[in-house]
Amino acid sequence: MSHHYQSILASIRTEVLPLQHDGAVANYIPELMTVPPERFGMHLRTVDGHDFAVGDSDEPFSIQSISKVFALALVVSLVGEKIFKRVGVEPSGSSFNSLVQLEYERGIPRNPLINAGAMVVCDVLIGQLKRPKQELLAFVRQLAQNKRIGFNERVAASEKEFGFRNIALANFLKSFGNIQHDVSDVLDLYFHMCSIEMSCRDLATAFLLFANHGTRPGSTDAVLTKSQTKRLNAVMQTCGFYDEAGEFSFTVGLPGKSGVGGGIVALHPHRYAVATWSPRLNAKGNSVMGMKALELLTTKLGSSIF
Ligand code: GLU
Repeated sequence: MSHHYQSILASIRTEVLPLQHDGAVANYIPELMTVPPERFGMHLRTVDGHDFAVGDSDEPFSIQSISKVFALALVVSLVGEKIFKRVGVEPSGSSFNSLVQLEYERGIPRNPLINAGAMVVCDVLIGQLKRPKQELLAFVRQLAQNKRIGFNERVAASEKEFGFRNIALANFLKSFGNIQHDVSDVLDLYFHMCSIEMSCRDLATAFLLFANHGTRPGSTDAVLTKSQTKRLNAVMQTCGFYDEAGEFSFTVGLPGKSGVGGGIVALHPHRYAVATWSPRLNAKGNSVMGMKALELLTTKLGSSIF
């Protein structure tokens, strides 16, 4: 099967290229607008270590919300599933930074992949780790096997400067008692993790953890148990694409996560992880070319998880 992947990726690139002017780069974080909008990259890595790539797949970009999966994986590896007492596992069905929903639900975020949920995860990490930013970064570097991965301080600062809504969300959580540490520390970790830069290659490599029962291929040390991995994949499947999670399940049929930097990562358990990057987003905040590329991938391979 493997040898088909490269030609499939090449034909996907040709087919998505006409979409390169559709959608708009996220502008509510001004620093994200400095990226050339017509980029497209895709990297697929199999659990047995074969790499297939097209386009700008080695170019690092802002992973934004994709970082929420790494934070969640780290928190679950540290405290287990009791994190789900402070954050739910239901799709939000509303925007990723909704204040209204948090008010209705008395400060318990719907899931760990919306902003409020990720902030609760950050709060727990601050309680568990001596140097949370550095340790989260080390975790990501280890999963991606790339020591050069880092924060983009300009993006983190831009998010802080214009993060009025996220600052409101964090204060709101604090008012409900669902943030235990300083709001400013929680936001600092949150903005930094969103500013991490990785390439499609890095992301596909890192997400193999979730395609391989919670153990990095080639390693014997489990990061997550099989059961924890299954739960994380379930959360990605139902909550990984803002209020377009149903659409992604419907058209692609894989667990995954998107970010407003234009990245999407998805995985087929036991087979592969795949990442796409293209900065122009649709109205729901997901990469136009990335969504189409992944739909074409599972269609051409004739297999999704369903
Ligand atoms: N840093 C972004 C925010 O908090 C992440 C959003 C995203 O990628 O969904 O708004």
